[in-house]
Amino acid sequence: MLNKTKLLIIGSGPAGYTAAVYGSRALLEPTLIQGIQPGGQLTITTEVENWPGEKEIQGPDLMINLQEHAKAAGANITNDTIKNLELNKYPFIALSDSGIEYEAESIILATGAQAQWLGLESEEKYKGFGVSACATCDGFFFRNEVIAVIGGGNTAVEEALFLTKFAKKVILIHRRDTLRAEKILQQRLFKNSKIEVIWNSLLKEIIGTETPLSVQGIRIKNLQSNREIEISCKGVFIAIGHAPSNELIVNQLKTHNGGYVITKPNSTETSIPGVFAAGDITDFKYRQAVTAAGMGCMAALEAEKFLSEKDTNY
Ligand code: NAP
Repeated sequence: MLNKTKLLIIGSGPAGYTAAVYGSRALLEPTLIQGIQPGGQLTITTEVENWPGEKEIQGPDLMINLQEHAKAAGANITNDTIKNLELNKYPFIALSDSGIEYEAESIILATGAQAQWLGLESEEKYKGFGVSACATCDGFFFRNEVIAVIGGGNTAVEEALFLTKFAKKVILIHRRDTLRAEKILQQRLFKNSKIEVIWNSLLKEIIGTETPLSVQGIRIKNLQSNREIEISCKGVFIAIGHAPSNELIVNQLKTHNGGYVITKPNSTETSIPGVFAAGDITDFKYRQAVTAAGMGCMAALEAEKFLSEKDTNY
């Protein structure tokens, strides 16, 4: 089935939905494809305390609000996933999992980012059997257990705090002696008596049983003494940052810094005219919901300008 659209928005995080609001108000009748995780990363977080206008809101609720706003503005929101994108043709062609071929005069890429893994063999082996990258999804399974969290950024600290709701004890393991997380989160972490921090240490191996597969502990290495120790725990949460979800555009758009889409300075324009990038797919610096939303706005305004300046014979 062929579906022609002036503006195709791929992704449903704050960047995508904001682009949909602005695109709708510019009467571009945008089509937004939600992808495999409708609402994006904020749907697997709990309290959001830095979205302006909301002192505190649950991540999933915020994303429902954004979706409803985009819908009310007139966007066509589709629960489908784009599996192939052809940017070397114009109009651009996007093929979805459900077999719809979109012919788009402009595209806003807002596919976001996904959790990064350490790449250990044992991490892969126990994924889903005690190893996770999502505390809100899997924390519940570790009631009254000891849990290790790896990382020192906002995600690691938020996950450690969240996991204290279930766990007997949470051990945060960080490779340096200072955290990268916001100061207010650090304060909460250090105040929480259920959390222990182990500094200057790297996860070397996850230890567990074979049948059934289950985590029993970890082996970590202190980077100052080179000493390795084993710690008993039932869950390991990896929170070492995110990588851009760029599968659709590899070898089509220029990227840098590990796959983030390059945009022109102070703009969301990519290396192909008519294709714009907003949010975590392009932003390796701020990576906040509110900055993603701002870029979504910019992308829609720039798409409108691109379309109005171009004679597309539509
Ligand atoms: P991040 O800020 O990049 O932090 C990643 C952490 O993992 C860092 O502490 C890093 O150590 C550590 N790390 C990276 N690679 C590692 C490795 N191979 N082995 C061991 N440790 C490793 O990532 P994030 O915490 O996922 O946050 C991503 C973005 O989302 C940030 O901009 C953050 O501010 C934002 N975010 C915001 C909120 C909020 O506002 N409430 C919540 C979540 C995320 P080093 O410190 O040594 O580099």
